[in-house]
Amino acid sequence: MSDQAVDAIMDRHECRACGYVYEPLKGDSKGDIPAGTSFEELPLSWRCPVCGVRKTQFQNIGVAGAPSGFKENLGFGLGVNTLTPGQKNLLIFGALALGFLFFLSLYSLH
Ligand SMILES: [Zn+2]
Repeated sequence: MSDQAVDAIMDRHECRACGYVYEPLKGDSKGDIPAGTSFEELPLSWRCPVCGVRKTQFQNIGVAGAPSGFKENLGFGLGVNTLTPGQKNLLIFGALALGFLFFLSLYSLH
């Protein structure tokens, strides 16, 4: 097996709807996908285990441990509006913090 083939198999794919990342090394235990299954080998009926969208909603984000953000930067260059995982985490934690503060303010009223 050439290095290129290994790269293709190990490419991770991120769900554009919810941010779930399919990792070929891990497979998808919920979907009965054994570890080592490349994204391309997933059945067409496979859906995101988190939000249920189709394979077509996933984007290739490259191999784990690859030079950070290279493919994402390529996407930015082409005008694709995507958030990096770091930015998503900021959004998620920001929302959580806001929710927590809201909960606290409600609690203090009682
Ligand atoms: Zn999803």
